[in-house]
Amino acid sequence: MRASQYYLSTLKEAPAEAELISHKLMLRAGLIKRLGSGLYSWMPLGLRVLRKVEAVVRDEMARTAKAHELLMPAVQPAELWQESGRWEFYGKELLRLKDRHERDFVIGPTHEEVVTDIVRRDVQSYRQLPVNLYQIQTKFRDEIRPRFGVMRAREFVMKDGYSFHTDFASLEQTYWDYHRAYCNVFTRLGLKFRAVAADTGSIGGTGSHEFQVLADSGEDEVVWCPQSEYAANIELAEAVAPAHARPAASQPLSKVHTPGIKTIAQLCEFLKVPVERTVKAVVVDGNDGRPVLLMVRGDHSLNEIKAEKLTQVKVPLTFSSPEAIREAFGANPGSLGPVNFPGTVVMDRTVDRMADFVIGANEDDQHYTGANIGRDFPEPLVADIRDVVAGDPSPDGKGTLEICRGVEVGHIFQLRTKYSEALQCNWLDREGQTHPMEMGCYGIGISRVVAACIEQNHDERGIVFPPAMAPFTLALVSVGADRNPAVATAAEQLYSELQAAGVEVLLDDRDERPGVKFADMELIGIPFRVTIGGKGLEKGVIEFVRRADGVVEELPLADACAAIR
Ligand code: ATP
Ligand code: MG
Ligand code: MG
Ligand code: MG
Repeated sequence: MRASQYYLSTLKEAPAEAELISHKLMLRAGLIKRLGSGLYSWMPLGLRVLRKVEAVVRDEMARTAKAHELLMPAVQPAELWQESGRWEFYGKELLRLKDRHERDFVIGPTHEEVVTDIVRRDVQSYRQLPVNLYQIQTKFRDEIRPRFGVMRAREFVMKDGYSFHTDFASLEQTYWDYHRAYCNVFTRLGLKFRAVAADTGSIGGTGSHEFQVLADSGEDEVVWCPQSEYAANIELAEAVAPAHARPAASQPLSKVHTPGIKTIAQLCEFLKVPVERTVKAVVVDGNDGRPVLLMVRGDHSLNEIKAEKLTQVKVPLTFSSPEAIREAFGANPGSLGPVNFPGTVVMDRTVDRMADFVIGANEDDQHYTGANIGRDFPEPLVADIRDVVAGDPSPDGKGTLEICRGVEVGHIFQLRTKYSEALQCNWLDREGQTHPMEMGCYGIGISRVVAACIEQNHDERGIVFPPAMAPFTLALVSVGADRNPAVATAAEQLYSELQAAGVEVLLDDRDERPGVKFADMELIGIPFRVTIGGKGLEKGVIEFVRRADGVVEELPLADACAAIR
């Protein structure tokens, strides 16, 4: 591809609304353009990246998951959703619309209903099972907070697979095929990820895994044990952890002398409790004028907590005034202190598994111990006290837990007979008996994968795509070609050779300064760059640079193509 004829639209500055680095870089590199809230166009350069992800996914779907591709409509009749019960259950994330005949439809956030409808019509006998289908298709979810660009969009591209079986053993086999396929996909794409067990909610059982790309900016938390295989998302880890050992209600609230202690860090030291095990609770303005109770792990000042954009807001309080808050917290004299609503620390709490529950007394050198939830605090406070923290023993007893953040890029789930029962998707056994099919569903957020990859692979100059996802493998930049015809000729020749050799090369033949070209090729994350200039040509060499580590090599022009390939 010639850059002079290609649609490149890089920006010097990211638009102000972009917070996350991947969002900024995707906009700056011109991979995507915003159309509206949670709606993005994939520009030619970005689409090449998206297609790379799709290609790897398709390959692994065929090779490892042994699934067949189909394509289902985005618009789905409401009747199917009424049949499954999700018309009521799904809530506002489901975009509903009417056609000209006033019939109800939805724009599919997922396709269990549609695929189950297809299979129930086609498949009757055990001889036709298992069935394993997938599609790569546009989904719509009316997310309450679309943000971070394509990371949490409303319209996005998903690979969704569905399998149908006579029995659980067959479902499990396919489930683990998908598990392997997903591990292969994310490994091939060059991502650091972890497969973690996830909660199966009302369906029960242990059959769900999320695939989390590790990134500090991720919205999810992953709990894992370096000494064993244990890995779970935080919700599951919490669900199986033993409940907090709460101090008995009979234990009195008593003041302790804590000389010179002013901060959580000092208190932790005094109590010999790790800082990560502390929770700071503050009441702040919840933007709409309502106070919000915030719980933040670790040692932060109120300003830091505010600067963190209140990512850990958990409990909106419905108190209408400072007096009302004071009343609610009044059972414990130490919990409140002088409330300067909004925006005042109302209490510091140091929690070690709740067995040692200490709160600030809002008095110099004094804290309270033996505080009791429900008696001394309103119950909602419990909501954000973690049952699982780093350093806890892992449930398999083989080591200690660590916690890190992740981006959910894939999710596989044993649905069992939830949909087949509701939609009567049945099979007949040899005796002519009818049974509901066992089902699994398997998603990959194709468009989210691109954003997650950039969260993990970037530097101050821009994106650093792993080769498997890069829009082009090699940038060929000619320097001074306008003044030196030999440079232009050599660049053209190498360009043809590389293309003939199947290298995806972007020839930067634009009428721009070298600095501009280099900066653009770095910003858009092309893994390798070759520079051809007059000085090098005199020596018969070209410059070869690796984007990831900036390592520069000189290669002889004569066999440059062979060396690069
Ligand atoms: P999340 O927890 O991030 O809301 P989810 O659990 O609702 O995701 P699933 O129903 O498991 O998502 O869908 C399968 C995959 O689709 C997810 O693992 C994720 O990669 C992707 N995905 C879900 N919602 C979005 C979105 N709003 N924007 C982009 N990708 C998404
Ligand atoms: Mg969701
Ligand atoms: Mg999720
Ligand atoms: Mg999920």
